[in-house]
Amino acid sequence: MSLAVLTTAGETRSFVHAAKQRGQRIALVPTMGALHAGHASLFRLARTQAAVVIATIFVNPTQFGPNEDFARYPRTLEADLELAQESQVDAVFVPDTATMYPPPATTFVDVGELGTLWEGAIRPGHFRGVATVVLKLFNVVQPDLAVFGQKDFQQCQVIRRMVSDLLLPVELRIGPTVREPDGLAMSSRNRYLSPDERQQAVVLSQALLAAKALADGGERARDRLVAAMHHEMGRASLARVDYIDVVENDTLSAIARAPGPATAIVAARFGSTRLIDNLPLWD
Ligand code: AMP
Repeated sequence: MSLAVLTTAGETRSFVHAAKQRGQRIALVPTMGALHAGHASLFRLARTQAAVVIATIFVNPTQFGPNEDFARYPRTLEADLELAQESQVDAVFVPDTATMYPPPATTFVDVGELGTLWEGAIRPGHFRGVATVVLKLFNVVQPDLAVFGQKDFQQCQVIRRMVSDLLLPVELRIGPTVREPDGLAMSSRNRYLSPDERQQAVVLSQALLAAKALADGGERARDRLVAAMHHEMGRASLARVDYIDVVENDTLSAIARAPGPATAIVAARFGSTRLIDNLPLWD
């Protein structure tokens, strides 16, 4: 089947309505485009869960801060549509800003404390923008399930919380992080890295693996896990660490004693490019 390219909420609702009339389950995969193999893996995961896969491509202005890279965020629609087609996506919803934010668009989702930690501390308002646009996409597409990437771990937790708090009738699936051969998590922003920065950026995943090796050996002390990660990051002269920690999955607070499921998280800047990564340490 050929790929349907939908630009309005009305067209998208009609497409979904027809599929639902046929009794088909709908999976939604929200993206900001500049698609890579990480996105493609989510499309494939969606395909195993639903008869109809709808991807969205929208660079959401409200999740970018005033000094962030909204204007220069990569926009590669033609290549994106090809990758979506190859990945057997059924439809791509590519709205413009006025469609997603019909003026005056003054209503937003307040995600509470989860949105103020880590990424939210460095990017105030980021998760308010994320939650708002995801809720709008859910409202347009009304999917049975939505697929997100573990790569954006805090985003997954924020959306999980929103779905629970707002009683949204959507199942969530989280796909594993797809990595380059050297371990760097795939990201649309990797293309900004200079060759030297790209080479050094591998330390993010190496820091996480160092923590994982300790955790697998039974280490549960936050300070020792964090110190091991800092040690690895220290090998990259171009890296400026924003944060490194081990957090409880549910609350995103740094682990204390007798921790439940936990994840190591890291964010660092290489020049003007910010990269984030994470690795679950134990369940
Ligand atoms: P983005 O286009 O960066 O907003 O990402 C869209 C979706 O793809 C989000 O759910 C991301 O977590 C996910 N994603 C981004 N990079 C990867 C990756 N390397 N592996 C798996 N999923 C990813």
